[in-house]
Amino acid sequence: MSRYMSARFDGLEAYVPGEQPQDMQYVKLNTNESPFPPSPEVLSAVNAAETQRLNRYPDPEGKALREKLAERYGVTPDNVFLANGSDELLFFAFMAFCDQGRPAAFPNISYGFYPVYAQLLGIPFTEVPLREGFVLDPKDYCVLNRNIFIANPNAPTGRAISVADIEEIIRTNPNHVVLIDEAYVDFGGESCLPLIEKYDNLLVCQTFSKFRSLAGGRLGFALASPGLIADLEKIKYSTNSYNINRLTAAAALATLDSNDYYLENSRKIQENRAYTTAELAKLGFETLPSVTNFIFTRCPRVEGGTLYRELKTRGVLVRHWDKLEISDWCRVTIGTREQMDIFLDKVREILKEVG
Ligand code: PMP
Repeated sequence: MSRYMSARFDGLEAYVPGEQPQDMQYVKLNTNESPFPPSPEVLSAVNAAETQRLNRYPDPEGKALREKLAERYGVTPDNVFLANGSDELLFFAFMAFCDQGRPAAFPNISYGFYPVYAQLLGIPFTEVPLREGFVLDPKDYCVLNRNIFIANPNAPTGRAISVADIEEIIRTNPNHVVLIDEAYVDFGGESCLPLIEKYDNLLVCQTFSKFRSLAGGRLGFALASPGLIADLEKIKYSTNSYNINRLTAAAALATLDSNDYYLENSRKIQENRAYTTAELAKLGFETLPSVTNFIFTRCPRVEGGTLYRELKTRGVLVRHWDKLEISDWCRVTIGTREQMDIFLDKVREILKEVG
């Protein structure tokens, strides 16, 4: 830190993203991307003609994309907000809805950006402990009188709670925003989107980074009542009005035209998830039930950090956190069948060495 940095950020611990090695030498199972490329339609939409238009700013309203998303989800464009990845969306939500008098709450084990945004913005926050087995108990969030941030399904655990449980949380916190981060909902989870008609305090966040193979394009979106969307727009226009670039917008429109391709990819990932979980069980691993494109798993014989390092030495990247409650565990993104076979082979090799 230089002597010019504001003292406001002295205590701030920045978010640490997963490793993104640029040489692509690894079997990369560490940041929950799709192993599949975007659809052929996306590749042709991001073409020379679109690139030629890069001298012009993009549409700040993102009209075409909002209309298409609205159509897809059976809502109206004033229910849709676009962001530069759901990370930006989360940041805008913390900024728009939280302050000293409106603190935040989220699970103690969840997406690592929630506490970082709260700290960055000086927002008081409570980390609500998950129960035994990393289970989220909805009762812990009822009548909480705070803005609530829940990833459902949760990361890094992969577990989900029911839409009925979410409704209870929304219903019992009518004066606060309940943000449901559905980054991983398209791998077997259930969206609470139908509830936005009934509750004006529900903000559903989704992303193009996982199911839609567009992590590098950076596109997230929110679905909510027009009031919450207008609040997010106010923050956007006060921060970065052109937050969605032309190429990403073109790619996203084409993505929405190739839904069958992405559904088929999701089916394969769910199949590979079941396969990997079963193979790991044969090796004595304990794996949490997952409705996402990753699994959270631990081996009774090898500590999580050791497994992570040994796999990395062998060319396979997974994710591990040096956090007390989860240090035994590794999060493994589900890739192609070939990638999962390499991962499993390396695990077998490591177990043999451990003896
Ligand atoms: N929410 C959760 C729960 C995540 O795991 C991630 C991805 N790391 C994000 C949001 C952010 O995704 P993106 O910014 O790529 O949309």
